[in-house]
Amino acid sequence: MTLDTLLKHLSLSTVRPFIADLIPMAEKEGWTYSQFLERVLSEAVAQRSEKRIATQIARAKFPFTATIETFDFTFHRDLKRQMLGRFLGPELVSEARSLILEGPPGTGKTHLCIAIAYKAIQNGFVARFTTAAALINELSIAPDRTAALKPYLQPQVLVIDEMGYLGYGAGAADVLFQVVDHRYHQRKPILFTTNKPLSQWGRVLRDEELAKAILDRSLHYGEYLKLSGSSYRLKGRKFDLDDSSLSYDQPTPGHTKNPLGD
Ligand code: ADP
Ligand code: MG
Repeated sequence: MTLDTLLKHLSLSTVRPFIADLIPMAEKEGWTYSQFLERVLSEAVAQRSEKRIATQIARAKFPFTATIETFDFTFHRDLKRQMLGRFLGPELVSEARSLILEGPPGTGKTHLCIAIAYKAIQNGFVARFTTAAALINELSIAPDRTAALKPYLQPQVLVIDEMGYLGYGAGAADVLFQVVDHRYHQRKPILFTTNKPLSQWGRVLRDEELAKAILDRSLHYGEYLKLSGSSYRLKGRKFDLDDSSLSYDQPTPGHTKNPLGD
């Protein structure tokens, strides 16, 4: 069999151009056979890993690409990168470190959760992104709840974005509790973002007891972080979202109706 055929059989055809470039270099520098082989196999491993990461990022269904490297920590007075270190390594999964990120719109909650999940994928794990509304809707109407739960129970890391933006229907707490409880027993972390203080989750979910049980499990091995400050979306703009003259019901002429964009 030729080298090309052998590489094809091993699904290593993409290493072929690398080998072609490497041979003259190895000859010129007098590498040993094992040095040469090591370089070729390292390239094959690197290519596989890159491919796995790209596939997993596509499967995670992130709404946008965000990494910890592109997060501007100077925008936040209270948030330091070190505070997130605990969520960026393999301990996120091995110690089931769930996270609840609370804060007003545009403070980077979704960005940070995507960035943490992105790092988890780079660390070899599987992650999945969803919004609370999508998760609750999907599971509430699923004819086969067990099957529908699978995509949210299998990944090691689950992001549940935007807890509290909508008034959820009856049964929402029940559905969410199922996800949280299963994942808690499997020791798999959930990253939540919310615009509501934890004390209001009961009202949001229309069930105080279940909301408490959800928070209790999420915070057992997890953490709660509150972001404050103004919206990054409106950086450098004149809007002040805390300014009471900005009313959403009666927009000030000349202003966009909903400067939150959420
Ligand atoms: P939230 O979920 O809190 O409403 P997002 O995470 O969706 O806010 O952030 C809104 C937009 O601003 C996104 O495009 C995000 O990438 C960007 N963004 C927010 N905060 C930062 C930051 N500190 N550094 C860089 N980009 C940011
Ligand atoms: Mg968000």
